[in-house]
Amino acid sequence: MSKRIQAIRGMNDILPEQTVVWQHIENAILSVLQQYGYREIRLPLLEVTELFKRSVGEVTDIVEKEMYTFDDRNGESVTLRPEGTASCVRAGEQHGLFYNQVQRLWYGGPMFRYERPQKGRYRQFHQIGVEAFGMLGPDIDAELILLSRRIWQALGIADAATLQLNTIGSAENRRQFGQALVQYLSDHEDDLDTDSKNRLQQNPLRILDSKDPNTQKILQHAPTLSDYIDAESQQHFQQLTEILAANGIEFEVNNRLVRGLDYYGKTVFEWVTNRLGAQGTICAGGRYDGLVSHLGGKDCPAVGFAIGLERLSLLVAEMQQTEDIRSDIDIYVISLGENLAAQAMALAEAVRNGLPQQQVVCHCGGGSLKSQMKKADKSGADWALIIGSEELAANSVVLKPLRSDEAQEKIPGDQLVDRLQKFYLS
Ligand code: ATP
Ligand code: MG
Repeated sequence: MSKRIQAIRGMNDILPEQTVVWQHIENAILSVLQQYGYREIRLPLLEVTELFKRSVGEVTDIVEKEMYTFDDRNGESVTLRPEGTASCVRAGEQHGLFYNQVQRLWYGGPMFRYERPQKGRYRQFHQIGVEAFGMLGPDIDAELILLSRRIWQALGIADAATLQLNTIGSAENRRQFGQALVQYLSDHEDDLDTDSKNRLQQNPLRILDSKDPNTQKILQHAPTLSDYIDAESQQHFQQLTEILAANGIEFEVNNRLVRGLDYYGKTVFEWVTNRLGAQGTICAGGRYDGLVSHLGGKDCPAVGFAIGLERLSLLVAEMQQTEDIRSDIDIYVISLGENLAAQAMALAEAVRNGLPQQQVVCHCGGGSLKSQMKKADKSGADWALIIGSEELAANSVVLKPLRSDEAQEKIPGDQLVDRLQKFYLS
């Protein structure tokens, strides 16, 4: 036997048992997005590497060490997208979507980052990203947060998700704060983790993101970003918190929250849970007013977030919100005797015509009544429909309940759909 080929580490198959949960989650998110008037945009998985270097930032975890980058056959450097905002901005700009108009957009699909795989952290993972363009005020920031809360409510996990909120001000605010931070941290340079040491000169704010306990300890006495925020950003933040409070959103202001990507400014937020261990952020986002022009477009304010679907589905399962997710077959069609395949198929088709919401499986491949009944039972179906040559001759069908002790009935073929509609639709 030849050696079995396995999936690449950190790239998961999502098996049928899980895809029903995923579909449930995706449908819930989709209908909320629709309620708020957001429209889908579909973006390529592969982009030129320069796009992510320029948008996410050279000195970030993603660009420094997580990207799947390779040369295309023509020698051009390309990258499997590590996130979606950059592509969304690239596409919107390329197609003139930001010219004199606002856009409420969303996208979904796989993202790729070369990270150390562990629970809630994979090399191929899935996000649904939501982005709003052309709106400067805090009301649209609030809308995104309200929208996300509605998603948690729809999935029954609202109690387990808390909102962390911060403002990181303007680029100038962050530059000044960065200087102060570097000054303070220089005295502790030897005790910082290696990444943070490297960032000290290049991107000091990212040090606040460090997960190293020692670095976090040193940071406790560091200057705080909130002391450097300008009046305009403060007012934006103040108004945002007022809109949130008026709409019953609770939040914690987290002064350490800076987010890992270069393009954010003013509002940043994360929805976190304590039910998933170390990978507790299920949704993260913020405002990125500078990105469109940074990528070559005209100035266009923007704000967005991304939900991590693996973590969200872990949380939905953890909160036991998966019970009423339906995946069972409803009706299983069995045929007995030779050459009844055509009639069995026709019967299943007629039932599907009359009950478009029900899952109808027609047994294929023959076998004894006993073995077919076993499969019907295992399928979780409520009913088995049985036809044999006797039934065929009498133009009738046997309807056998599989989830109750009631006796089976033989009913005329033309009453079958009616009978099943009564069961399922009343
Ligand atoms: P983290 O700090 O956990 O690495 P991040 O700041 O890199 O997260 P973002 O780039 O903001 O994450 O992505 C938004 C969301 O996507 C995260 O909050 C998380 O839910 C999810 N996510 C990010 N990276 C991964 C991954 N490698 N595997 C699974 N989900 C991920
Ligand atoms: Mg990360």
